[in-house]
Amino acid sequence: MDPAQPASSQLQQALSADRPAYAYAERQAQALPLAESPYQAVQLSPAQPPARALPPMDWATLEAEVKGCTRCRLCETRTQAVFGRGNPKARWLVVGEAPGEQEDRQGLPFVGRAGQLLNNMLRAAGLDSDTDVYIANVIKCRPPANRNPSQDEIAACQPYLRQQIDHIQPSLILALGRFAAQTLLETTEPIGRLRGKVHHYASTPLIVSYHPAYLLRTQPDKAKAWQDLVFARREMAHLQGKP
Ligand code: URA
Repeated sequence: MDPAQPASSQLQQALSADRPAYAYAERQAQALPLAESPYQAVQLSPAQPPARALPPMDWATLEAEVKGCTRCRLCETRTQAVFGRGNPKARWLVVGEAPGEQEDRQGLPFVGRAGQLLNNMLRAAGLDSDTDVYIANVIKCRPPANRNPSQDEIAACQPYLRQQIDHIQPSLILALGRFAAQTLLETTEPIGRLRGKVHHYASTPLIVSYHPAYLLRTQPDKAKAWQDLVFARREMAHLQGKP
């Protein structure tokens, strides 16, 4: 895909099968004035037990710690732990759920089919996934057969993501899917209720969208995910003081 092309044209190429739905979503999103993206309070409730503490570490030590982690049973079945990819100084942090088969094999997040869709969507929004974004997961090791992570696995892994966020200090977090959203926001609210608002993780703005693997199975919600990305892009512009 040609990076010189305008984002809307790249989007059409990336997701041509869904062109009408995306065009509609883009129009809908453009109709939303920035003034209508306020910070709305969300009622939070704890979603998992508190995580065991981890001493603060520098980035390299943290990565090594994750690679050798034995804090939960997933270390017994993983090929390797998946720390993250992209630019650790990026303004955008994308948080997914857990490595799948390809990620477990390659040691990088979002490198399978869901990752291709994520890369295409980011590129269509004008973001390069190597330079503009850092991508990490809530869970660093693949759950066997891609089952959902359990609460104790999430709790054991949570200090790693927390420290990654402390290091990266992103301007905005995009939480993809139920596990990322509910873990970071400490809520049990469903995705549908969390979308379309600016939440906060500590003081960092956080926007929720669907997980790309879900979008691969549920075509109609791709338009909503594009709307979320346009909303996030606007919010970032707003945070940077751009009109
Ligand atoms: N799904 C995720 O949530 N993360 C990955 O890294 C891959 C698939």
